[in-house]
Amino acid sequence: MTERIKDKVIVITGASSGMGEATAKSLAAQGAKVVVGARRADRLEKLVADITDAGGSATAVATDVTKLDDVKTLVDTAVKTYGKIDVIFNNAGLMPLSPLESQKIDEWDQMIDVNLKGTLYGIAAALPYFKEQKSGQVINVSSVYGHISVANGAVYCATKHAVRSLSESLRKEVKPYDIRVTVISPGAVNTELTQHISEPGLGDAVRDIVGEIGVPASTMADMVSFAISQPANVDVSEILFRPTVQP
Ligand code: NDP
Repeated sequence: MTERIKDKVIVITGASSGMGEATAKSLAAQGAKVVVGARRADRLEKLVADITDAGGSATAVATDVTKLDDVKTLVDTAVKTYGKIDVIFNNAGLMPLSPLESQKIDEWDQMIDVNLKGTLYGIAAALPYFKEQKSGQVINVSSVYGHISVANGAVYCATKHAVRSLSESLRKEVKPYDIRVTVISPGAVNTELTQHISEPGLGDAVRDIVGEIGVPASTMADMVSFAISQPANVDVSEILFRPTVQP
């Protein structure tokens, strides 16, 4: 597995915590050069220091994925620093669950901007390079909630369904350029994701469940490694994983 990951240049959004951070560490340990983006620059600097101290290669770029220019700078930095980009892992996301009747319009906008538009901006930034190289891999993060819709999750589920849908269209469009498109849909994973639920009562309930059944963030790193390390003519189109006890 590691041999096909070694020396790959991999851009990761949402790398300041959770699955993005764990994946950056895992891929760097397997010899990839990782270019990590998120808004919390202090966390990214620590991540780069950890990876470098362990003998890996990493570069951080403070990035807000709701800003196309930021995402372009992130991707351009990868190409300027390492000469190419092999993978963009569009992982940044937010999940402030609430019932629609609570009308948390700002949170709806945030989810659409980060989960949906942020993913599109990652594609927009990487695609020109992938087309020129005639190779590349887009890995987008959906969710179990991109397969089903639940109460309190209307907007989150909609964004994650949209990520799967746009990935399917993208895969069909980029076949002439040998570009791979992978969607990874996690179930409950123990990360900071549930900290942003502001709906009274709901946050603690969700945190309790995820804390009890959630699998570690390194599970995502294993899935990403699997998808990247397949031979170039194998496109792992979709991975869906969840804790064994999760319905
Ligand atoms: P975390 O909250 O630990 O990580 C989310 C990451 O997204 C952080 O690094 C955060 O960085 C980043 N992010 C949020 N907003 C922005 C922004 N505007 N610009 C750039 N980066 C941003 O959660 P997870 O690791 O769990 O989440 C990773 C992905 O997995 C998300 O897409 C999530 O929806 C998805 N997912 C998670 C599940 C789970 O159970 N944990 C289940 C299914 C899917 P910063 O705040 O520094 O910008």
